[in-house]
Amino acid sequence: MAFSKPTQSIWSASVKPPRVAQLNGDLSDVGIVGAGITGMTAAALLKRAGLKVAVLEREEFGQHGTTHRTSAHLTCALDQSYPTLIRKFDEQTAQLAVEASATAIDMVELLAGELGFDNEFRRVDGYRYTESTDQVEEIESDCEAARKLGLDAELVDEIPLGWTIKRGLRLPRQAQFHPLKHIFGLAKFVHGDGSFLYHKSPVRSAEYGERCRLETDRGVVTARHVILATHSPMGVWATLQTRMVPHHSYCLAIRAKFDRGEAPAGLFWDTADPYNYIRRLGPDDGDVMIVGGADSKTGHERDTRKRFDQMEQFARERFEVKSIEYAWSDQFFESADGLPYIGRGPGEENVYVATGYSGTGLTYGTASAMLISDLILGRSNAWEKAFDPGRVKPLASAKRMLENVGTALQGLVSDRFFRLAERDLLCDPAG
Ligand SMILES: Cc1cc2nc3c(=O)[nH]c(=O)nc-3n(C[C@H](O)[C@H](O)[C@H](O)COP(=O)(O)OP(=O)(O)OC[C@H]3O[C@@H](n4cnc5c(N)ncnc54)[C@H](O)[C@@H]3O)c2cc1C
Repeated sequence: MAFSKPTQSIWSASVKPPRVAQLNGDLSDVGIVGAGITGMTAAALLKRAGLKVAVLEREEFGQHGTTHRTSAHLTCALDQSYPTLIRKFDEQTAQLAVEASATAIDMVELLAGELGFDNEFRRVDGYRYTESTDQVEEIESDCEAARKLGLDAELVDEIPLGWTIKRGLRLPRQAQFHPLKHIFGLAKFVHGDGSFLYHKSPVRSAEYGERCRLETDRGVVTARHVILATHSPMGVWATLQTRMVPHHSYCLAIRAKFDRGEAPAGLFWDTADPYNYIRRLGPDDGDVMIVGGADSKTGHERDTRKRFDQMEQFARERFEVKSIEYAWSDQFFESADGLPYIGRGPGEENVYVATGYSGTGLTYGTASAMLISDLILGRSNAWEKAFDPGRVKPLASAKRMLENVGTALQGLVSDRFFRLAERDLLCDPAG
């Protein structure tokens, strides 16, 4: 690949973070660990409801975490096809997963409007399509199942990308946005009036009970409720670690030549294995597209350059690429059954987890924030049972867990926050 800059996502290169604080004392209220889309949305919703929140972020705000290394499609097209979801669960559960995703897209739009920031949110159509005759039937049954689940899906023979497809499924009212402008906008609302966002404040250990304690090098936050919004299962219950597989995904931002001078709008996902995903960058960058894919299980591919090369080849075969502007990659976590783990931590009343989002964690992250804030505020939420982290019996022993997560967790075991989770493995409440 002719790309020589260090890998960096296009998002962090295009916006400056707001000023936030570093923790240096004792505080109290809802403690939220992690300032990605999950933590920041939960913080905003809880503060909006009148609670005081303290968000603790390990790194410099907006410079780390998967939310700044995403591709920012907002969609109800889940990683598992709709027929698979219905087969694995039932129609009602699949419907709840789709509904949670659609409601989350609305929430991303609503929060920006209500709190008055620009996150480049745009409604666009989404297209799942195939270039292979063998997968036409798959697309057709996906469309039929999508309609059953209440989506306004239709079959198409063409997509706006300009190349020939065999069959496609169009989903209206999907969306794209700028993920960092979104969480920076949320941060401006959250930080102040007795609520805080502390960055460079890694939570080293935690004690849970009526008053929970989150310990950092700079001080302790005590809180009635704790939300573990760390995306990674590290620091989250070990029982959940056994039920998740980490994957890596790769993105390129390419500048290309288009017939009409502008990249077509829309979100696009093919049916290749691993699948490729494409979107236009934003309203003011008409000839830049983000092309992603080449997913692999974390630790199974040592030569990541090969994965970027694979993406570049895919892009050059389909677009008249002028330059490759940015390249980046990060992890996502797939749950054992394909639905995320969101809700009360197993055996806990006031500690909440949100993880296992697979490749649609911007919508599931937003939905997590909505579900968990409802639980904290004592409101009922229809998604609670479907996403309950305690729903699956342990799949595996500790040995299997290490096989599953493999090299992904090597080097992390020195973290005391992780060791807490490791200890939980010995007294797995579900086991
Ligand atoms: C390449 C790629 C493309 C993707 N594309 C899409 C997409 O198009 N659409 C979609 O919906 N999803 C997509 N995803 C998934 C999505 O980006 C993530 O699921 C989502 O960003 C997760 O958000 P989060 O807030 O849960 O986690 P994060 O954004 O990772 O935030 C977690 C934060 O917790 C902090 N943290 C961890 N441990 C501690 C600690 N001990 N103390 C304090 N802080 C801590 C971390 O520093 C981090 O900032 C993609 C993922 C990848 C890798």
